[in-house]
Amino acid sequence: MITCPVCCSEYVFVSSLCPSCVKVKHYMSCYSRERVISILDNVLSRTEDKQDNKIKLEIKEEIENKQYNLRNKQIKRGTETN
Ligand SMILES: [Zn+2]
Repeated sequence: MITCPVCCSEYVFVSSLCPSCVKVKHYMSCYSRERVISILDNVLSRTEDKQDNKIKLEIKEEIENKQYNLRNKQIKRGTETN
């Protein structure tokens, strides 16, 4: 039994990372390691009340782009459901 090499707070048996760190790894594969670190740096260096505002600003454009792309795909397939 060893501890997770990333968070050092959970024990791992079979996998090399704990479930929480696997989730972080998944985000890095989706958004790139640099993007995840940038968001963490920009958000976590603020007070909690300002973190919410920064989270909204940081991910707002990405969410809007994903919604735009999804809508375009639906329009091309003729499956738009307004
Ligand atoms: Zn971990």
